[in-house]
Amino acid sequence: MTAITLAAPLSGWAMPLQEVPDPAFSQGLVGVGMAIDPTANELRSPCDGVVLSVHRARHACTVRAASGAEVLLHLGVDTVGLKGEGFTAHVQDGQAVKVGDPLISFDMDLVGSRAQSLVSMMVVVNDGFTVDGQSVNREIAAGEPAMTVSGGGAAGAPADAAVVLSSPGAATAESAQCTVPLRIAHGLHARPAAALVAAAKAHSGPVAIQCRGRNANAKSVVALMGLGTVLGDELTVRAEGPGARGVVESIVALIDSGLGDPLVEGAGAPPAHPATAATAAPVAPTAAEEEIGPPFTAGEEVLLKGTIAVPGQAVGSVVRRFRRVARVEEQGAGAAVEEPRLRQALDRIVAGLTDSAQRMPEHAAIFQAHRELLDDPELLDGALADIGAGKSAEWAWQRAARQQADTLAALPDPRMAERAADLRDLEQQVLAALSGEAPSVGLAGLPEGSIVLADEILPSELAGVPAGRLAGIGMAHGGPTSHAVILAAALGLPTVVALGRQAERVPDGAPVVIDGNRGELHVFPPDAALSATRNAVAARAARREENRRTAGEVCRMADGTRIEVFANLGRVGDAAPAVAEGAEGCGLLRTEFLFLERQSAPTEEEQYQQYQQIADAMGGRPVIIRTLDVGGDKPLSYLPLPKEENPVLGLRGVRVGLREPGLLRTQIRAILRVRPAGVCRIMVPMITSPSELQAVRAMVDEERAALGRPEPIELGAMIEVPAAALTADRISVAADFLSIGTNDLTQYVLAMDRGNPHVAAQLDALHPGVLRLIRQTVAGAAGLGRMVAVCGGSASDPMAAPLLIGLGVTELSATPAVIADLKAFIRTLRLEDCRRVAEQALAADSADEVRRLAAEAWPAR
Ligand code: PEP
Ligand code: MG
Repeated sequence: MTAITLAAPLSGWAMPLQEVPDPAFSQGLVGVGMAIDPTANELRSPCDGVVLSVHRARHACTVRAASGAEVLLHLGVDTVGLKGEGFTAHVQDGQAVKVGDPLISFDMDLVGSRAQSLVSMMVVVNDGFTVDGQSVNREIAAGEPAMTVSGGGAAGAPADAAVVLSSPGAATAESAQCTVPLRIAHGLHARPAAALVAAAKAHSGPVAIQCRGRNANAKSVVALMGLGTVLGDELTVRAEGPGARGVVESIVALIDSGLGDPLVEGAGAPPAHPATAATAAPVAPTAAEEEIGPPFTAGEEVLLKGTIAVPGQAVGSVVRRFRRVARVEEQGAGAAVEEPRLRQALDRIVAGLTDSAQRMPEHAAIFQAHRELLDDPELLDGALADIGAGKSAEWAWQRAARQQADTLAALPDPRMAERAADLRDLEQQVLAALSGEAPSVGLAGLPEGSIVLADEILPSELAGVPAGRLAGIGMAHGGPTSHAVILAAALGLPTVVALGRQAERVPDGAPVVIDGNRGELHVFPPDAALSATRNAVAARAARREENRRTAGEVCRMADGTRIEVFANLGRVGDAAPAVAEGAEGCGLLRTEFLFLERQSAPTEEEQYQQYQQIADAMGGRPVIIRTLDVGGDKPLSYLPLPKEENPVLGLRGVRVGLREPGLLRTQIRAILRVRPAGVCRIMVPMITSPSELQAVRAMVDEERAALGRPEPIELGAMIEVPAAALTADRISVAADFLSIGTNDLTQYVLAMDRGNPHVAAQLDALHPGVLRLIRQTVAGAAGLGRMVAVCGGSASDPMAAPLLIGLGVTELSATPAVIADLKAFIRTLRLEDCRRVAEQALAADSADEVRRLAAEAWPAR
């Protein structure tokens, strides 16, 4: 039995729990402890320990002390409804903390005016502990001894320890379950969770709540809060032991009545009647497990059609990187065989991860995250339980991993959703190890001349590929403007996406031609086709070498019209090669690559160093730095944004910047510090209205004044939202220049998700609807003499370039690998021809028709 002293987590007036204006706390339903009416805005850790969970509304968090005591710290009363507004979390789930470490800070004015009370609670929520010596009815300073917690050891089992129930389907003498929709606005936060726990504790046997495949002990407030439930979730209440049916019925009635919170009308269907004995939920075959046919065999010539992503052709041998979809046998050979098999497979994966972390220290965080997931006892326990019930190691592992991945994916916290992707990756790796295949991590070990075929490649995988090994990429899924494709383009790798699942039939080592100009994968091509493509690739390489000789010269059309050809960059290392290709500046620095794959945001100094190095490598040429474009499909682990039904239509680009001004201001300061002043311009993504740009300009001016930088800096708007294109004349009042992001503009104009393989073939920036908006943008900018650039993918498309120029665009910012060829092509063009064909294109009916017009006008590209 150990006793520990908890320090006051806040400064303020310390008071007995009974005085808290919330009956769940004052009656001790949540736990035992004390309260503080705060006078300072920072919640600090009361002990050394580990953060078990930070509530998604950031108003509460639980810390587990070394003794096992779980301390819930809850800021204010009725603060869950603020949905995180006014709260900033400084810690993440699983993080080790020391006493006094800041956990959450809050805006006292905002929270105080919107919540019922600022009185904040510190309670121990798990059984087996007693609390005494509360230092109350006095002013207390954060860090002072506040109360003593005794207990631990065997008695102090973690409150969220997995509840042990018979596996679903195993009929026990007395078991019951029932599913009921949750109809309260903020899910199971502290108060309703406490009410549910009180009802569950009245039952002597185990009681569990299941939600989206995840189980929680119904006798633990922490476990219930950790389920991350939201309005409309289906909760399955399960109990075992004498009286199981009665307790299930009473908990269901309690949930149905709102657990003390007001009911939201119309949310969820009424509960079904309690059913005795749960039924097993078999792992249903997913669409991915449908039959696709046997592997193609040598001599079986096949042409697979996909969508053009990165132009160019390549010949090579296939390296498959498909996630494993083979159906696994359910029945095992008994636990004595299956359990050691699973443990050995896991050991192999762990060894592989350790090795990878050493070989690729820059990606060590990814491998460490995978290791942590493999160490999760719930995952292993779930699999071992199934093995104990006679299942095979493969079946048990797959089921446990999928259940956890689905649960994580459904949580509103984007950090959790990312971990679901990691789990799916691990599911495959373990299945591969069980089948005796070598575990494959990333694309690091590829032989030279590989053409990788995969469901979809991750940007992080491409980042680790040694130069020269990878010749081309084919993806069964994916869209033509995904970030992996953008990286592939930067690496000059011909890429075809949306090939469909037939691509999975191509065996390892098969000779193929990947044709990024046509969007095709030619499998087992005849020798003549292989050598014709090799010759075409060599001729193209020779032409490119030729073009590179003159690439450094400024770009003028045949009639003398000046067109600037800039480069899109993502990292410091991209800059020098881009200049060698003839880049006359950087028209888009995608700064999010500096922010992704890390645990915290880069500091101002780190950013400044990167931007300065890029500016230096560009040798005085202009550098347009885009402010952070995250959110949507690019979540940051350290920037929790609310879960959105349609993230691409939600918090993205400047919307995130204005919501998290601290992040944006840091970036602005880093850009303003780059020397010589005037070399950098700032560009803001996803602008919809002039007011957004004005708000950013105000920040820029304030930061300039604070830094004592007298020189102004040009501020541009990205035109990616149709409303911005339509009101370009108004945006131009606020902007110094405009740059059209055709990737997003196209997805929003055509209502086609740029990452959706089902619409990838129609997602074409040469659709006349997109071209008309480009014309409108140029016309709107012309009144105020603003320059219009294009920095989306169509600037790199030789079919699109003459049309963009014909529409009045004067700067193309392209992927570095195409710049030399693009400049050489532009030098052959005449403005009047470009204008004429652009006029015809505006009157066309489809992107295909536009492409035909361009191909007729400029056949020898
Ligand atoms: C675009 O949308 O065209 C663009 C350049 O931005 P991103 O591709 O980074 O979204
Ligand atoms: Mg964009």
